[in-house]
Amino acid sequence: MNKKTVLITGASRGIGRATASLFAESGYNVLINYNKSEKEALDIFESLKDKGYSVDIYKADVSNVNEVNLMVKHCIGKFGKIDVLINNAGISKDKLFTDITFEEWHEMMNVNLNSIFYTTQASLKYMIQEHSGKIINISSIWGMVGGSYEVHYSTSKAAIIGMTKALAKEVGPSNIQVNCIAPGVIKTDMLNDVSDEILETLRDETPLMRLGTTSDIAHCALFLAGDNSNFITGQVISPNGGFVIV
Ligand code: NAP
Repeated sequence: MNKKTVLITGASRGIGRATASLFAESGYNVLINYNKSEKEALDIFESLKDKGYSVDIYKADVSNVNEVNLMVKHCIGKFGKIDVLINNAGISKDKLFTDITFEEWHEMMNVNLNSIFYTTQASLKYMIQEHSGKIINISSIWGMVGGSYEVHYSTSKAAIIGMTKALAKEVGPSNIQVNCIAPGVIKTDMLNDVSDEILETLRDETPLMRLGTTSDIAHCALFLAGDNSNFITGQVISPNGGFVIV
């Protein structure tokens, strides 16, 4: 059978890394994107390659449109196509709104939001030709309900939800599904600055009484990428243990 190809941004660490492993194990060709964490990216690439999986690796800063265009070209050159795009790369920062600088605001929008415009526009060219494709955008519960001390992060994640819904309507007739995953609190490097005490409180406020894992999110992405979700588009799925129920 013709293998499907997935491009995962920010796959050197955390949720993206776990997603790259799961998709490789599930028979996809996987393009692992990274930017700064070369050692971690090479580590996951080598370990998947050693197991005989079909993987490749590409360094690109997703906030740079030229680098993104070259990455998508590389993906097509290497695997012949792009069936699934997972827009996962992201940064976060806790800061009082009144202290956020112009540079910090724009960096957040460039990495978390504008990057998705670049990757998606470049990938859609191929998907529309194929009359098939899946785009999965990683937002956050804070994009759904707002998080204090991270207004710039929440704004970028809320915009991803708006983009997902609008684009799903536009490209639905081309048989392309666009969906959003809005994770709850997931234990990754992104939470390194969060104290154990706060993590404990977050756990206590979660009906399922635990924090999320990268595997929880990877499995949700695998479902949205597969044929069993072909009638789902424009939706926000939030694996969050019941922490946010809307
Ligand atoms: P993480 O462990 O900090 O990993 C972030 C990933 O994004 C890294 O692989 C990093 O790659 C990549 N990245 C950052 N800037 C990039 C850039 N300019 N170009 C390319 N890649 C870039 O974070 P995570 O928790 O896995 O987060 C993944 C996604 O889930 C993010 O969009 C985040 O907002 C979202 N999310 C996370 C949580 C949570 O609780 N962890 C909750 C909700 C949503 P390099 O290190 O190679 O630069």
